[in-house]
Amino acid sequence: MDYRTNLVGRTSAEIGNLLAPHVDREYRGRQVAQWIIDRNASGFYDMTNLPLVLRRDLETHFSIEEPEVLEVVESSDGSMKFLFGLSDGVGVEGVLMREGVKATFCLSSQAGCAVGCTFCVTGAIGSGRNLRPEEIVGQYRAMLRRLDVEVERVNIVFMGMGEPLLNTGHLGPALAVLSERVSLKRITVSTAGILPGVYWLAGLKKRPKLAVSLNAPDQGRRAQIMPIAHRYPLVDLMKALRKFPLERGRRITFEYVLIDGFNDAENDARATARLIRGIPAKVNVIPLNEDREYFPDLRRPPAPVVDRFAAGLRDAGLTVTVRWSKGEDVAAACGQLRSRESSLGE
Ligand code: SAH
Ligand code: SF4
Repeated sequence: MDYRTNLVGRTSAEIGNLLAPHVDREYRGRQVAQWIIDRNASGFYDMTNLPLVLRRDLETHFSIEEPEVLEVVESSDGSMKFLFGLSDGVGVEGVLMREGVKATFCLSSQAGCAVGCTFCVTGAIGSGRNLRPEEIVGQYRAMLRRLDVEVERVNIVFMGMGEPLLNTGHLGPALAVLSERVSLKRITVSTAGILPGVYWLAGLKKRPKLAVSLNAPDQGRRAQIMPIAHRYPLVDLMKALRKFPLERGRRITFEYVLIDGFNDAENDARATARLIRGIPAKVNVIPLNEDREYFPDLRRPPAPVVDRFAAGLRDAGLTVTVRWSKGEDVAAACGQLRSRESSLGE
């Protein structure tokens, strides 16, 4: 058992406070924070601007630990799926996607999900524990290390395993650390519509962007595929979103997973547009990633149906992006993550 204090998942100010009793000069705390947060250092011996005795002393009291990368699977489109092993043997996944000079890190917030949406592999696996700040920030650190030099900009999306707004206690501190490196303008928290979590986010002084998984334009059908809608009905959710404080130029992203013959009609596009009218919004249409094992009856609509749905939204004046998920050949698509715990420890 390692009794040292892990410095990953702490802000610069926290690192400074923790180090204060150990350092001769105040600025040492800042130097260490810079190494860890800005330069992604993974050991004290790399911190060449610190006296060697101090590095040795820090090493005995503190650690710089993050989840172990057990496996990286590269997809034909260049996206990479990471399997992380946490200290208690639990596995979680993340996905790194590249588009030119831009990279998007899709991070997990929980080791499973209790929300139980019927079209989601993570939901089918069931609930999993909350990830701690160092485990959330650690995914970011590990992915950063794999980036090539051309990447100029990193976006972070909480669209991996779990429901981030059911883990606000750890998400908050993780956001504080991540936002020292990545602007909150480029961090998106995606939720199935956990109302207390939406209020929590609304109450933050500085907020990341909000994405809401809508997935159907009415309460009846939404509750059919997202049982959480019974607890937090669509009318209440929409009311909260209408009041959600948006920074200048920001919009709420609505995610809409298209399921063949269920929510993909032209009428559904019109109803969706009516539902979100008045909210500065954009819509991400995500054709379903099929899974023959967990939900064999749900299918992705044919491409023309997807196009028709997107066109319906656009005709109503909405900004629409169709997200043909990346990394499908390794089942790596963000939002389609499964933790293959059985493969851990092999
Ligand atoms: N729990 C949060 C964030 C993780 S899920 C949420 O639900 O928003 C991230 C996104 O992946 C959600 O928009 C979800 O609707 C989508 N998703 C889940 N399963 C999917 C599947 N099988 N195919 C396509 N998108 C899926
Ligand atoms: Fe959980 Fe999101 Fe999957 Fe629903 S879609 S089960 S909320 S991870």
